[in-house]
Amino acid sequence: MTTDIEIARAAKKQPIQEIGAKLGISADNLVPFGHDKAKVSQDFIASLGDRPNGKLVLVTAINPTPAGEGKTTTTVGLGDGLNRIGKKAAVCIREASLGPNFGMKGGAAGGGYAQIVPMEDMNLHFTGDFHAITAAHNLLSAMIDNHIYWGNELEIDERRVSWRRVLDMNDRALRDVVTSLGGVSNGFPRQTGFDITVASEVMAILCLSTDLKDLERRLGDMIVAYRRDRSPIYARDIKADGAMTVLLKDAMQPNLVQTLENNPAFVHGGPFANIAHGCNSVVATTTALKLADYVVTEAGFGADLGAEKFMNIKCRKAGLAPDCVVLVATVRAMKMNGGVAKADLGAENVDAVKAGCPNLGRHIANLKQFGVPVVVAINHFVKDTDAEIEAVQDYVKKQGSEAIVSKHWADGSAGSEALAKRVAEIAESGKSQFAPLYHDEMPLFDKIKTIATRIYHADEVLADKKIRDQLRQWEEAGFGNLPICMAKTQYSFSTDPNLRGAPTGHSVPIREVRLSAGAGFVVVICGEIMTMPGLPSRPAAENIRLNDAGEIEGLF
Ligand code: ADP
Ligand code: MG
Repeated sequence: MTTDIEIARAAKKQPIQEIGAKLGISADNLVPFGHDKAKVSQDFIASLGDRPNGKLVLVTAINPTPAGEGKTTTTVGLGDGLNRIGKKAAVCIREASLGPNFGMKGGAAGGGYAQIVPMEDMNLHFTGDFHAITAAHNLLSAMIDNHIYWGNELEIDERRVSWRRVLDMNDRALRDVVTSLGGVSNGFPRQTGFDITVASEVMAILCLSTDLKDLERRLGDMIVAYRRDRSPIYARDIKADGAMTVLLKDAMQPNLVQTLENNPAFVHGGPFANIAHGCNSVVATTTALKLADYVVTEAGFGADLGAEKFMNIKCRKAGLAPDCVVLVATVRAMKMNGGVAKADLGAENVDAVKAGCPNLGRHIANLKQFGVPVVVAINHFVKDTDAEIEAVQDYVKKQGSEAIVSKHWADGSAGSEALAKRVAEIAESGKSQFAPLYHDEMPLFDKIKTIATRIYHADEVLADKKIRDQLRQWEEAGFGNLPICMAKTQYSFSTDPNLRGAPTGHSVPIREVRLSAGAGFVVVICGEIMTMPGLPSRPAAENIRLNDAGEIEGLF
């Protein structure tokens, strides 16, 4: 079998200027990084003004299982399929975090014959955006400690500095650290820690900002610490917002690359999908919508988290409205939801497929609540049997929807043509009546309840008085109109990762709430959330090296 990296290496890439030309971007509006990557210039983006938007298609999925669903693969395959049937389509996905590549093998550029190239670059340093975010974040960290060192005029309570440091590396040793040890000239020792760069609020802000002015305003709005009287200190008070914007100036410009079939793909931004909203940048999506007739984009995790946040946070904030949602399901994942162990997925098991289908059914019904038409894409794996596929299709039909088999992983756009045709029809039909699930004015706790009951189908939300009081305080301080960013397990509708299928009657306990005032959402944490991953006992890094031809081995 040919591996993803072998397929990617055999790609016949076109010069990036030719890819830009397909979207009407002239060479002087591209800032090239080598021959196959470019940033789209800020001035060009500003000049697009009020050109009409193309159709927006969101790719999301059922609850992920270790079997793998293939959202990115389907996003890329559908983009190529739309181009194949004569539509001018572009793909918008997230950039990859560098650190996790050295833990587990695996990339973020799709798979099989539905990939984005150059995939090695995209998974490593790419165009340096994440390095810029790391630098901007840590500049603020340094300025906070420096402010305290030189007299602490703002009266920062050193025990209440919430701003940590970041690094794009899986390094559990840095989760909790003490800084400023070593004597008077090194400052005041205090406990803090590191998160991985993609968990930085700066990342979420870069992805939600509409332009550099908006970016600077949001950076200034970030809360970094509190005084003894609990009043907040903002990044603006530290006077870091201007310099951070300077560091992020280039990173704000979306990156253009191509699919294996030489179609345009924007790869820009990569916020966490738990404590942040998990979508590529607003700038990339809105730019793509001005340049292409169809834009296919992806949201992280399953639809209960990813699509919910795409709709309630990204679309609400950026004034976007999806025309069609593609819900990715696999026969394998249906079987796992139906109770089959990973090792037994190879054998046909129609009953298990049927038993797992209610997970899919619930996602379909949930997505319809947003007023957007849904089509299910069965991402085809070679071992899927006809009877299993039929079982999924029958089930979906009974839910009043339709499921289309797509073979883009094996066959590229030839395999996704049927899906592309149907998606184009639905998007053109004008049937979408998109509306977010709750309005801005709803009290914060009611917003949480709305998500818990209508998306997770829980009976109740459990929150201590402390948490409810905190939410009320933020409402009084003027943050009550913000949307909610839920952080819970991606494996279940509930907060218990082992509860597969379509559970009801559960409760959603809130452990903690955080205010991301710059990004513009209230993070609601239910369960363990890891913001600095570790490496496994045998990290992929042990087998990664350059071969004699200078090519990367062991990464994918
Ligand atoms: P997601 O975006 O949902 O996390 P990806 O598209 O990145 O998933 O795919 C996860 C992994 O599964 C990739 O390594 C990809 O190559 C593999 N994969 C996806 N679709 C298929 C398929 N139809 N057959 C075999 N492998 C697949
Ligand atoms: Mg993905």
